[in-house]
Amino acid sequence: MMPPLKRIAEYIRATDNFLITTHVAPDGDALGSMFAMAEILAILGKHAVMFNESGLPDRFAWIGSGQTILTELPAAEPDVIIVLDCGDRERAGTAILPWLGSKPVINIDHHLANPLFGTLNWVEQRTSSVGELVGRLAQELGIPLVGMLGQYIYLALISDTGNFCFNNTRPETLEMAAEILRMGLLPGPFHEHRQSTGTLNQLQMRGTVLQEARLYADGRIGLISFSRDLFERTSTGPEDTEGLVNAVLYIQDVQVAISVREEEQGIKFSLRSKGSINVQAVAASFGGGGHRNAAGGILDVDMESAQNSLVQAVTKAIHEAL
Ligand code: 5GP
Ligand code: MN
Repeated sequence: MMPPLKRIAEYIRATDNFLITTHVAPDGDALGSMFAMAEILAILGKHAVMFNESGLPDRFAWIGSGQTILTELPAAEPDVIIVLDCGDRERAGTAILPWLGSKPVINIDHHLANPLFGTLNWVEQRTSSVGELVGRLAQELGIPLVGMLGQYIYLALISDTGNFCFNNTRPETLEMAAEILRMGLLPGPFHEHRQSTGTLNQLQMRGTVLQEARLYADGRIGLISFSRDLFERTSTGPEDTEGLVNAVLYIQDVQVAISVREEEQGIKFSLRSKGSINVQAVAASFGGGGHRNAAGGILDVDMESAQNSLVQAVTKAIHEAL
């Protein structure tokens, strides 16, 4: 059978009306791969719209392509839906779910346990980011990773590899990054745009949260929490918590970092681990998902019960990995 990359390239060449989407509360890989896909389709002269229930978070306003992300489904129905960076169908949000059940779907992803919910599925768990897959698709279609397209792919690569630090940084990842630099991207200005998006309030809120970090399981677990009250006091919100959970891994003995935050739908949790501890399995046991060393989900309980359940489940996972 033809490999998924070639099948998807052929399908794209033969199709005209696309809707591209990615997971709710999109991160750098989600947005980078979605914008990149839109750019590829525009270069091919196709008609495409981007849709995401959460829209473009403020901290990503700088990537501005001039193209809008629809937060409501368009009246005109697409021929096919491209779903990026969604470990399962539900991650794309509730509004689009009916279409995902009734239209052709191209599922491009790299999460563990993706149930292959698409009509065409291209899922590579070992690949750093969906942006890396979309970059390969561009190359397959003869489109160079130059200009905005290069920038979008670079954002995806750098976001999901923790600035090329995690084990998912493979030679192929760095070769793609090298190709983007060769095509003219300057990493210095790119990095400044990406990192300098905050306010004093946000910085101080993050300081308060770190100040209150706690340890569990003989210091093997570090936990931070963001309460609704803190968000209100500091005029900040859930989108300002991005990445802080990684800072907890700074502590030498901590094997797993947990972050919990109060949101409308419940307690959103993020897990990060060192080495072989599989936090995807922990997240999946609470209905979430992700990767071995980075996973998350939502718990429909109060803050205290969420923390207790997570600490308990993570403690078990640490003991099992020993
Ligand atoms: P983060 O902690 O940064 O939100 O997400 C880390 C990883 O876990 C990402 O790969 C993300 O896709 C996955 N993840 C986060 N939240 C959820 C969730 O609610 N459901 C599922 N299935 N995966 C999630
Ligand atoms: Mn990703």
